[in-house]
Amino acid sequence: MTTAYRAARVFDGRELLTSSNGMAVVVRNGRIDAVLDASAVRTDCVLVDLGDVTILPGLLDAHVHLAWDGSPDPIEQVRQEPKALTILRAANHAAANLRTGVTVVRDLGSPQGLAIDVASAIGSGIITGPRVLAAGCAITMTGGHAHCIGREADGPDAVRRAVRQELKSGAHCIKIMASGGALDGEDGDLGAPQLSVPELRAAVEEAHRAGRAVAAHAHSLESINNVLDAGVQSVEHGTGLDATAAHRMRREQVYLVPTLSAVESVLGQARAGTIRPDIGRRIALLAEHNGIAFRTALRHKVPLVAGSDAGVPGQRHGALPDELIAMVRAGATPRQALQAATVNAAALLGVITDHGTLDPGKRADLLAVGGDPDTDITTLHDVRLVMFEGRVLVRAMASSGSDAAHSTNPAGWRVNRTPDLRICLSEVGFVWFVGGEFVEWVGVGGDGLLE
Ligand SMILES: [Zn+2]
Repeated sequence: MTTAYRAARVFDGRELLTSSNGMAVVVRNGRIDAVLDASAVRTDCVLVDLGDVTILPGLLDAHVHLAWDGSPDPIEQVRQEPKALTILRAANHAAANLRTGVTVVRDLGSPQGLAIDVASAIGSGIITGPRVLAAGCAITMTGGHAHCIGREADGPDAVRRAVRQELKSGAHCIKIMASGGALDGEDGDLGAPQLSVPELRAAVEEAHRAGRAVAAHAHSLESINNVLDAGVQSVEHGTGLDATAAHRMRREQVYLVPTLSAVESVLGQARAGTIRPDIGRRIALLAEHNGIAFRTALRHKVPLVAGSDAGVPGQRHGALPDELIAMVRAGATPRQALQAATVNAAALLGVITDHGTLDPGKRADLLAVGGDPDTDITTLHDVRLVMFEGRVLVRAMASSGSDAAHSTNPAGWRVNRTPDLRICLSEVGFVWFVGGEFVEWVGVGGDGLLE
């Protein structure tokens, strides 16, 4: 079946497309067939008019931890609970991303590499969720940052072996820990590099031999320089970035994944007194610098990719829109933020042939939001439609206003609208929101409610 989704605007991953007739994204057999002026849609297509919305490619979150739930001490929680519970939790977190329009996530570290199994379960249709690209266990030095989700290795040969083990387990990419972090260790670890340059180089060499990208957790400037020397594809956090390193990142096309909203979320938890004081101290140190680093990156045109670090204290899964909002608040244009979560992220994650733009032939993973996110990035929270591989998973009606009148409901659902009421339909039921607050989830047996 060929269906054309009509919208006021289309952001195709690179730029905003508009026309006085509206734009249309044509979907056929789970793939994008065309993006064109709505008046040019062939009459044998089913036309679904979504009203005053913008259609975008499904978003990509390049930095999540599916095993963690955003509670005050997720490391301790995972340590104490049975592994089966952690896996179920991770599956649920993956699905939460999909509901907000995130159709690809990259997991950068999970205990015993369990995110690889979540990726397999989704890939083989056992559970519903976004496409998951998982690093398995992060490679860290003995006692290094996040060893709870890591594989500890010392010396280039041991690091090489650790990377090979992750690849053998099915890792889609490799994560290396090049400095301390907020959630564990000592305050001084933030500035101290972890893993030597020869160790980092061994990791990158092994990953590249297998055609995999390397993501490096690095806060201090010294650790950033170390991972640039080693030849990684992305610097995660990059809190100590200076102009020289930024210039080099642009020249060598190394991506920065700044995780700004995660720092805000953990800081919020620290202020509320819900997390351990030592985590609070370290996050306060990071928060002093990460805005400055981000603006340095913007000035030097460092390629940006969006990552929420979902799962750390206070950061729920599906928080990617908050990261884009934080980027804009810190000085990026809405378009830079949108590109960071679409075309740039797909390039970094190695999935640009299927994701990140609306080019014909790509997977029909779509997000439609009310209004124009290219002007007002906060409209990403107003999710009207999520499509995954050509299937509509979420369809939300506008709460009020003229655009609601234009919405077409292909299943002929009768929606009782009152001010501030939103009903989000999915294939397994529907959800009520009143005034933006979640009210009730109503499950319905079977699937394919809408299509
Ligand atoms: Zn992380």
